[in-house]
Amino acid sequence: MMTTDTATPDATPPDAPTDIAANLAAVRHAIAEAAGKAGRDPAEVTLVAVGKVQPIEKLEAALAAGQRVFGENRVQEAKAKFPAQRERYPDIELHLIGPLQTNKVKEAVALFDVIETVDRPKLAKALAEEMTKQGRRISCYVEVNTGAEPQKAGIPPEEVEAFLETCRTEYGLPIAGLMCIPPADEEPALHFALLADLAKRHGLPVISMGMSGDYETAVRFGATHVRVGTAIFGVRQPKE
Ligand SMILES: *Cc1c(COP(=O)(O)O)cnc(C)c1O
Repeated sequence: MMTTDTATPDATPPDAPTDIAANLAAVRHAIAEAAGKAGRDPAEVTLVAVGKVQPIEKLEAALAAGQRVFGENRVQEAKAKFPAQRERYPDIELHLIGPLQTNKVKEAVALFDVIETVDRPKLAKALAEEMTKQGRRISCYVEVNTGAEPQKAGIPPEEVEAFLETCRTEYGLPIAGLMCIPPADEEPALHFALLADLAKRHGLPVISMGMSGDYETAVRFGATHVRVGTAIFGVRQPKE
């Protein structure tokens, strides 16, 4: 059952359930501290646990420790893991945090409670139509390419206003908030400040930003959702 963790020596190898529980507690504590320093109520911040590529035992340990909000970046992987868990834990809230192809929209709307990665008109339209078809309204966030990186998904900051308007008026797609993944080699604080400002300007209550390396900073800048993987589940084994 134990997997051999060959990753960097300072990385926690949380294979045992107790480690996952302890890691969750530590992350929650750090969120509360960061919120307190920023004069925010820690209850405003939702911890989205990202268990992608991790063995199912770790996910089960997180569930046993009381974690209910999870993020997955692939539809197929989430579909393989979550329906079974939901039979035992009906209150699971599942977020899609990776890119969504339009041919997977049907499965995604059926499976996820939140789509965090709405990043183009064609996808917004497909989501709105599929929700109507399934009679299921799920929460959607717009992914913003705060670093304006050409290869990266997301709406450029200067186009967010027009895109929100298109979603709302043309497709009737409700957008609850914004999410971003800052460029890996830049100071994340600048990107968090930009995203928070955009959300505020457009009256959007949800701000999804911050990962294992920078979630405390994100909380200081107003994140309502932080997406944390490695700090809870340990270093991901590389995919074959
Ligand atoms: C994998 C992933 C995370 C979690 O990353 P960690 O650095 O392991 O915390 C957060 N957000 C997105 C979009 C991801 O793909």
